[in-house]
Amino acid sequence: MAHVRDTIYALSSGSGKAGVAVIRVSGRCSREIAVTCCGFLPKPRKASCVPVLIGNGTRKIDDGLALWFPQPASFTGEDVFEIHLHGSIGIVRMLMAELGGMVDVRPAEPGEFTRRALLNGKMDLISVEGLGDMLGAGSASQVEQALFHVDGRASEIFAEWRQKLVECCALAEACIDFTDEEGVAEAALLQIHLAVSSLQHTLQHHLSESDRGRLVRDGVRVVLVGAPNAGKSSLMNAVSARDVAIVSNEAGTTRDTIEASLDLNGIAVTLTDTAGLREKVDSHVEQLGIDRTIERLKSADLVLSIASYDADWLNSSFDSHTLRIWNKMDVVPAPLNAMVNLSVSALSGEGIDALIMQISQIAGELSDGQEPALLVRERQVHAVRTCLVHLANAVDSDLAIELVAEELRNASNELDRLIGVIGTEDVLGEIFSNFCVGK
Ligand code: GDP
Repeated sequence: MAHVRDTIYALSSGSGKAGVAVIRVSGRCSREIAVTCCGFLPKPRKASCVPVLIGNGTRKIDDGLALWFPQPASFTGEDVFEIHLHGSIGIVRMLMAELGGMVDVRPAEPGEFTRRALLNGKMDLISVEGLGDMLGAGSASQVEQALFHVDGRASEIFAEWRQKLVECCALAEACIDFTDEEGVAEAALLQIHLAVSSLQHTLQHHLSESDRGRLVRDGVRVVLVGAPNAGKSSLMNAVSARDVAIVSNEAGTTRDTIEASLDLNGIAVTLTDTAGLREKVDSHVEQLGIDRTIERLKSADLVLSIASYDADWLNSSFDSHTLRIWNKMDVVPAPLNAMVNLSVSALSGEGIDALIMQISQIAGELSDGQEPALLVRERQVHAVRTCLVHLANAVDSDLAIELVAEELRNASNELDRLIGVIGTEDVLGEIFSNFCVGK
């Protein structure tokens, strides 16, 4: 990682022509930069109308709005200066060039502002992960779930768990110190068992909800399967109302999987078109496509099994929720004995709205919950599972009290790792790889 003592800057709004552009600066030179670029230091945390100056404060290029956040009360915990300019490519370029020419000032790396916020204790790892999810959120439910992690509600729950474990550790230590006193150790052990059992119950509950968290975060995975020519690609296009799949009447055209991300009534859905499944395969490439289809089917949340008058149903049965769709109803209606959930025509559009409604309803049922899921990433799920293993060991009746204390400490360490109090370096690279410059 580049030097954290440098002052960093970035265009925090999207690139290209826009109404307004926001340039953000963080680090030791921010105050000096604010004075040079505005002609004066704006009042802390108040929006100030300023001239936008370059040429070391000698040439005005725009009128802007400036915000000055002296450390530590800023996003990064450092001095931060933000300036809103007109979103012209030329104006943004001129100011960025001015900043780039300053000593000890350099462009920020992706996610570097947030990384500094983490290093300076302004955010914990859970909020940082939530922020990453929020930046990538494409649906209302994804925003809601990400916000639960960004605004600290999720971290509060983890902190409560950790506090309970700290209390249990203290009780275990007391048992070790007062082994001679009659009744003290037994009473403390009983308290530990009660607290651990209640915590185990809570952690198990949140683990059981983690699938829902994954569904909201990654989108409900809907996979279209059927024999070649059933009309899968055409249906994919009809449902996503975009030309994301190749439509052709030559069998075996869709040799790889093609995905479209949709927002169906606030729920993110990933629709995957797959290679047609057939037993007699001519080419190695087509076989690879079929293997990939089978892989996708294993992880599908909902399978749309497609057939038509000229492409029979697949014999396979699928583990996940399945809808049987009869396509090309404009040519031949569904046979009465075919146990069809829906008849459609990808060509005329008949039945497509009903199909979208069904997908949306099932996706809603799969991802619906009273509150946003707490565990939404593999890393979080893994930490809680490991914590549970230590808790189960801790209440093993054969264990000496010293080992009970050790297991409780291990469980507590796992929660520290979860919120990023320890062992963060190995996960930061993965988390920040999805951040954009300027965040
Ligand atoms: P896939 O191999 O299952 O992906 O099938 P395609 O979507 O490539 O469609 C195969 C052929 O069926 C193409 O010629 C499509 O135009 C045609 N087709 C797809 N859906 C319909 C439909 O609803 N009605 C009619 N008449 N033809 C369709």
